[in-house]
Amino acid sequence: MADHSPLSARREGVFPALQELKAQGFLTTALPNVRYLTGFTGSHGALLLTADRALLFTDPRYATQAPRESDCEVKVAKGPLLKELAKWTKRLQLRSLAFEQNRISFEDYGQLKEHAETLRLKPVTGLIETLRAVKSEAEIAAIRASVTLNSAALEQSLRYFKPSMRERDLAAEIEYRMRRLGAESTAFETIVASGERSALPHARPTGARIQLNELLLIDMGASVAGYASDMTRTYAVGRLDAKRRRMYRAVLQSQLAALAAIQPGVTCAGVDRAARNALRGFGLDKLFIHSTGHGLGLEIHERPRVGRKDKTKLVTGMVITVEPGVYEEGLGGVRIEDTVVVTANGCETLTPTGKELLTL
Ligand code: ZN
Ligand code: ZN
Repeated sequence: MADHSPLSARREGVFPALQELKAQGFLTTALPNVRYLTGFTGSHGALLLTADRALLFTDPRYATQAPRESDCEVKVAKGPLLKELAKWTKRLQLRSLAFEQNRISFEDYGQLKEHAETLRLKPVTGLIETLRAVKSEAEIAAIRASVTLNSAALEQSLRYFKPSMRERDLAAEIEYRMRRLGAESTAFETIVASGERSALPHARPTGARIQLNELLLIDMGASVAGYASDMTRTYAVGRLDAKRRRMYRAVLQSQLAALAAIQPGVTCAGVDRAARNALRGFGLDKLFIHSTGHGLGLEIHERPRVGRKDKTKLVTGMVITVEPGVYEEGLGGVRIEDTVVVTANGCETLTPTGKELLTL
């Protein structure tokens, strides 16, 4: 019986690479990759993929859930999953197996070595991650839903904003709104950083009160039906001096320049360069200390990386963030981040939230 479900189509996509590697099977223990290829959302699973079988291994906690979620043959293991999986490689007479060298634990690798002594293990990196970089229509719809919810949560939270509010209270409000709107969790730890602390690109919200005449940076993302969103906005609390306003203008121009550079065939490095060049015009490029963006999907950071050195060419259907920032110690930081999908003639910004400088 022919099966044309999207999951089996995804699994089919693995085989050309396996043939190149001369591997008869593929193993993944990385949960986002397991989910991508099997539909299983549990916290413990391993997939063994061969030309004609797809075996999903999990433990007894998921005996009911796994067959409901996945179209694979589910094997419930009482002991270590990889011990059971190793036995199956023998039963299926596999001679070679590709495994993800950057994802497997040393312990799991040891189980394979011990229980499938003659199996030739072939290390690979990024096989599934490369497939995942280009999203299907359904995945783009899922990310769009996540992005839309994330923006609604910000808008609702800001209605409760008042100067002198604590950073962590605003973060709590944001996360509560996400949940109320239907998110299953945040996609990462919410960042609410005010004043000088906005110059820390990955600041944790503290008990500090948000002061007047300062910058306020919020970086937030929801996880909705497994898919992440990611957005940063920077606000003026009260009145900003000319220096901070200029910083904002520079980052906005940089962000718009990077968005304008996005096209199928353009390298990630090219997009990154557009963002940096715009900041150079303001003499602020030295204060931009991270990459311009990253792919997102089932994970918050996925391929491609939109950085200085990434030669990956953009492809229609990739979903990436564009998030230049400028950080000056003692003064504060500005970052503006949208999530966009690469289209046939440029990109579509999924994030609906405005990005003109807003005073709270
Ligand atoms: Zn972010
Ligand atoms: Zn991001």
